[in-house]
Amino acid sequence: MTELLSNYLGGQWQTGSGAGTPLSDPVLGDELVRVDATGLDLAAGFAFAREQGGAALRALTYRQRAALLAETVKVLQANRDAYYEIATANSGTVKNDSAVDIDGGIFTLGTYAKLGDSLGDRHYLLDGEAARLGKDPLFQSQHVLVPTRGVALFINAFNFPSWGLWEKAAPALLAGVPVIVKPATATAWLTQRMVRDVVEARILPAGSLSVVCGSSAGLLDQLQPFDVVSFTGSAETAAVIRSHPAVTQRSVRVNIEADSINSAVLLPADGPDSAAFELLVKEVLREMTVKSGQKCTAIRRVFVPEAMYGQAAEAIEARLSKVTVGNPRNDAVRMGALVSRAQLRAVRDGLAELRAHAQVLHEGAQQALVDADPAVSCCIGPTLLGARDADSANVVHDTEVFGPVATLMPYRDTTHALALVRRGQGSLVASLYGSDAGALGAAAVELADSHGRVHVISPDVAQLHTGHGNVMPQSLHGGPGRAGGGEELGGLRALHFYHRRSAIQASTGVLATL
Ligand code: NAP
Repeated sequence: MTELLSNYLGGQWQTGSGAGTPLSDPVLGDELVRVDATGLDLAAGFAFAREQGGAALRALTYRQRAALLAETVKVLQANRDAYYEIATANSGTVKNDSAVDIDGGIFTLGTYAKLGDSLGDRHYLLDGEAARLGKDPLFQSQHVLVPTRGVALFINAFNFPSWGLWEKAAPALLAGVPVIVKPATATAWLTQRMVRDVVEARILPAGSLSVVCGSSAGLLDQLQPFDVVSFTGSAETAAVIRSHPAVTQRSVRVNIEADSINSAVLLPADGPDSAAFELLVKEVLREMTVKSGQKCTAIRRVFVPEAMYGQAAEAIEARLSKVTVGNPRNDAVRMGALVSRAQLRAVRDGLAELRAHAQVLHEGAQQALVDADPAVSCCIGPTLLGARDADSANVVHDTEVFGPVATLMPYRDTTHALALVRRGQGSLVASLYGSDAGALGAAAVELADSHGRVHVISPDVAQLHTGHGNVMPQSLHGGPGRAGGGEELGGLRALHFYHRRSAIQASTGVLATL
C-alpha cells in the first residue's frame, strides 16, 4: 500500500478514515500515494480557520502579511527540487512545463508580497475619495474595504496544483482571509506537499492555511455568509457550486474560472512572409504543446485570412512534426503526458467529435511515443485540425478539448474574424498578431468585452511579450460568459474579492480619523 496523505485542518494533521483514492504516474502507470478525507470534522476545521486563522491574520497589517508571503516564497524555493519530482511523477510534465506551475506559483506569491508591502501598515483600505452628501460639506460618505471575516475555500482543477493554489492564496492571505484548499484529486500531492512545507515552517498563524485532499463532499455545506468560494474547473461542476444553498441562500461570494475556447488571430495586413505570421505560428505551437495543451488559456481556435490558410497549415504542421512526445524523464522528449487515463479518453472523445466537422492537418493521435508504453501511459501527440467553413463549424466554437489540439480556420475580413472569435461566448484570452498598431488596438478593444485578457503580439515585442497562455499576476485572469464570469489577479484588484465594501457616512471630523 502506498502512503495515505494527511489533511491539514483545524490546526492539525488528520488522516481520512477510508482506504483512499490512489494517485498515479500518468506515464508509468504506478500508484504513487493515496488521498482521503473521509470522517474529517469539517465543521470544526472551518470554524478553527474562520475564528483562529482569520482573527490572527486580521490583527496584522498589509505590510506584515506581505512579509509572511515573502517568507513563504523562501520556503517554497528551498523545496523546489521535491516539487519538480512530484510534478514529473504525478503530472507527467517535462521540466519546462513543471516550471509553469511551480515557479509560476512562487513568482505570483512573490509579486503579491511586493504589492502588499506598498499598502503599508494599515488594517483596512480606503476606496476612493469621500463624497459630500448634501449642500453642507460637513457630512460625507467614505467607502472602505475591510477583510471579510470568513474563510476562503478554493476548489481547484488538476492542471495547476501549485499555481492554482498560490495565485488564489496570495491575495487571500494578503487580504487577511484564511484559506482552505481542496486540490483536484488526480494531482493533489503537489498541493499537499507545498502546504505541508509551509505549515512545518510555522510562518503563517495557526488556521491560516489548510488542505483537504480527496472528496469534495460536505465542503460547500460548511460555508457561511461571510465566507467566499473560488472554483476552477469544468462548467458542469461550476453549475453545481452556483446552485448550492451556500450561494443561493446564504449569499456566499463565488468566483468561477471555467473552460474557454480561446483564439489567436492573424490580422489581414501581414502576409505569409511577415514577422507577425511567424509569431503566430510560433505561439500556436507553444500553446498546443505546453503542459500538453492542458491549460485553460491555451489557444483552441486559430484564425487567418483565407488566402493564407494553406500556408498557415503548412507552417504549423512543419513545427508540430518535430515535437517529441513521451516520458518526461527522457531528455529527448519535448511534451509529456496528459494527467490521467480519464483525461486521455476525454481528449480522444473530443477529438472524434471535432474530426466529424474538420479535416486533420496534423495527426498526433497515432504518433510514436518515446520511452512510454501506449497501453499504459497517458501520452498523446498534438493534432491540428482545419475547418474551411468557419461559420458552420459550430462544434469547433463550442467544444473544449483539454489537450494538445487546435483548429485552424480562415476568415474573410477583420469584422468576420472578430465575429468568429466571439462565437466562443466569452473567453479567458484572445491573441492578435500584426504590425499595424492602429488596427491591433482597435481589434483589441473590440474583443475586450468578451475576453478577460487580449494579448497583442507585434514584431516590436517579439522578444518581450509574456505569452498568450501565460497568466501574469499584474494582469486580470478570468473571462465573461462561458469562461465562468470570474476575475482573479490583476495586481491589487484581486484583493477586492476578499474584502467587503462599506460606506461610512459621518462628519468630516470622523472621516479624518480613518
Ligand atoms: P472538474 O472536474 O470540474 O474538477 C474541478 C474541481 O472540482 C476538483 O477539485 C474536483 O474534485 C472538484 N469537484 C468535482 N465535483 C465537485 C462537486 N460536486 N462539488 C464540489 N467540487 C467538486 O474540473 P477538472 O477536470 O479538474 O479541470 C479541467 C477544467 O478546468 C477544464 O475545463 C479547464 O478549462 C478548466 N480550468 C479553468 C481554469 C481557469 O482559470 N479558468 C484553469 C484551469 C482549468 P475531484 O478532483 O476530487 O473530483
